[in-house]
Amino acid sequence: MHQTHAARLMDGTGLARRITERSAARAAQITRDTGTAPCLATVLVGDDPASVTYVRMKRARCEKAGIVSRHVGLPSTTTTAELVDAVSALSQDPQVHGILLQHPVPSHIDERAAFEAIAPEKDVDGVTMRSFAAMSFGLPGFVSCTPGGIMRLLEEYDVDLAGRHAVVVGRSAILGKPVGMLLLAGNATVTYCHSRTKDLESIVRQADILVAAVGRPQFIRGEDVKPGAVVIDAGYNPGNVGDVDFETAQTRASLITPVPGGVGPMTIAVLLAQTVDAAARQLGLGPDRRVLSCDGAR
Ligand code: NAP
Repeated sequence: MHQTHAARLMDGTGLARRITERSAARAAQITRDTGTAPCLATVLVGDDPASVTYVRMKRARCEKAGIVSRHVGLPSTTTTAELVDAVSALSQDPQVHGILLQHPVPSHIDERAAFEAIAPEKDVDGVTMRSFAAMSFGLPGFVSCTPGGIMRLLEEYDVDLAGRHAVVVGRSAILGKPVGMLLLAGNATVTYCHSRTKDLESIVRQADILVAAVGRPQFIRGEDVKPGAVVIDAGYNPGNVGDVDFETAQTRASLITPVPGGVGPMTIAVLLAQTVDAAARQLGLGPDRRVLSCDGAR
């Protein structure tokens, strides 16, 4: 069946590769200049298969980019106090520049307490309350990685945010909420939708910039996409299916992220870039703005 291909694709794979190449070059420079390689510590509690895979992927990408990867694996019986101690030890370790605590932790653990044990200057995954405050005030700091990746994609494709209506569907702490905060800091007019939102479709239809972060396959119908809208599909559901009905949406949108190859690859790229920035700062070199320039959002 022939479809009109109106929308331009936003290529997250290519942009993520370019950011990662710059991070690797910067990591090599830091290592040459200081004798110390940037180091990301990953912390994983338990053995959830998806989390094990994510952590393995992140570690492999780090090593490929010349970032040392240190791993702390803890049993699923770990208590909040034990996890806080392990994270605090990494926060105090001068050899470690970034810390990633893989989410979710087992339900008996106070996740917030564990996140807050991450030293702010090492919070390269943007999970502490201090990082959230910086995002909400539009101040410099580390951003949540997937939202940071979305902002960087918007910047790459010269999407003007000021005064435009951004609708974010989803309000999770790692995705929907922070991306809305960053869009607001970029002067968009932001509406959040969530599971209690009434008449969600009519709000979606008003979106100049639509961010789908729901976790339900093809939840956003193409016919609800405003003609000319920029559509960011952060969803990733089994079978490589996004939260947006891509086939129909792309006939109406001006720009759209594919799934896979849109938002997905950006998350690790932002993590690596922020780790290199963190190392540069801690080693007294200052950040390299070229690695991750989403200053409009920070
Ligand atoms: P989440 O924590 O489950 O949050 C889902 C959000 O969607 C919640 O705010 C929820 O509302 C809302 N929602 C659920 N059902 C809804 C409905 N019927 N109508 C309106 N809103 C509804 O998920 P998440 O962690 O944010 O992830 C969302 C998606 O992004 C998933 O597909 C995930 O795989 C993907 N993701 C991708 C990346 C990446 O590409 N790197 C990273 C992170 C997540 P309530 O708050 O009211 O419950």
